[in-house]
Amino acid sequence: MSKAQTAEIRTKRTKKLRNPDAPFWESKELEEMTHAEWESLCDGCGQCCLIKLEDEDSTDIHVTRLACKLLDVASCRCSDYVNRHKKMSDCLAITPKNVRTLRWLPETCGYRRAAEGRELEWWHPLISGDPETVHEAGISVRSFARSEKGVRESAIARYIIDVIK
Ligand code: SF4
Ligand code: SF4
Repeated sequence: MSKAQTAEIRTKRTKKLRNPDAPFWESKELEEMTHAEWESLCDGCGQCCLIKLEDEDSTDIHVTRLACKLLDVASCRCSDYVNRHKKMSDCLAITPKNVRTLRWLPETCGYRRAAEGRELEWWHPLISGDPETVHEAGISVRSFARSEKGVRESAIARYIIDVIK
């Protein structure tokens, strides 16, 4: 591909991102979003609240079906979102700055999709207008997660369901 062709494609991409008629997640840079807009990008799937184990040798990340004890598995929402960082020191805030570095974020995550310039799917509440569609589409952890409460640390590995290389 010639340099001229590359430049033309880049220009088209920039135009698409800056389309003023597009919704905010397609027209704004992540850093330009208001706090409310940023928060609304979360589809409420609860996938990032599953306990993960990192293999120290390979750095593979093993995802379990155990959910953080603050996650309300029925709603897939944090039961104390405002105080989550005080209560759970390892709860990481997803920000425009770090979102591209979090390889364990699922492909479906609204933040990841926006960061990668992908469209939101029909089941995202911003598209459907209904917070239930993320569950109806089988994207959320509602159907398979269980709380980490009562599970011994030595038993966590039994609940591994996926590996991220
Ligand atoms: S994975 Fe992404 S979309 Fe799902 S709950 Fe976590 S931040 Fe929200
Ligand atoms: S503290 Fe809340 S937001 Fe953080 S991992 Fe636990 S349930 Fe998720």
